[in-house]
Amino acid sequence: MPLDRPASVVRDTAGPRGSADRASAAPARPDSERPSRDEAEQAVRTLLQWAGDDPGREGLRDTPRRVAAAYEEFFSGYGEDPEDILRRTFEEVDGYDEMVVLRDIRFESYCEHHMVPIIGTAHVGYLPDSRVVGISKLARVVDAYAKRLQIQEKLTAQVANTINDVLQPKGVAVVMEAAHQCMTTRGVHKPGVTMVTSRMLGAFRSCSDTRREFLSMIRNGGGSA
Ligand SMILES: [Zn+2]
Repeated sequence: MPLDRPASVVRDTAGPRGSADRASAAPARPDSERPSRDEAEQAVRTLLQWAGDDPGREGLRDTPRRVAAAYEEFFSGYGEDPEDILRRTFEEVDGYDEMVVLRDIRFESYCEHHMVPIIGTAHVGYLPDSRVVGISKLARVVDAYAKRLQIQEKLTAQVANTINDVLQPKGVAVVMEAAHQCMTTRGVHKPGVTMVTSRMLGAFRSCSDTRREFLSMIRNGGGSA
């Protein structure tokens, strides 16, 4: 079969469906309630002082500005619409109906209890039902949810549920493994510990062979063949 035919692009094909357990994809923060940049920098000064240092000394003078800029990167996910990222799909897949897996997607997220990094990898798979999406989009969806204040369980569910809702595939699997700095640098101080979370939907939940194939693909770095 010719593979060079132009793929058809489908937009806005995801209709409203039951997704009661899906957390909101939209940013929670109305812009009118957003503090100003000056207020944010002043808050950093307060924390520096509270930690016991002098925000006026030379080395710290630009720190509030740098911290605010870093926060814009850390939390850029609030400005992204993960559903929109997935809306452009390709229907012409020449009968491809096997699993699509994107492995080892590094992500950086931030613990919503301590505001320190959660760093790990995500593995995302789905079983297409006539539509596929560009693979970079799967990584972008991970980032759109990771670059927010999170707990890993919620992050995992949001990624899986959004792919399921928008692509409407036969199944979705998401596994995340991450180290939480709130566990390694404070509290119980247990470096080297990673947390693993997973969410299996559709065929990945109902069919143990499908689930096993996915898990072997992400573990062994090879296909199932
Ligand atoms: Zn924490």
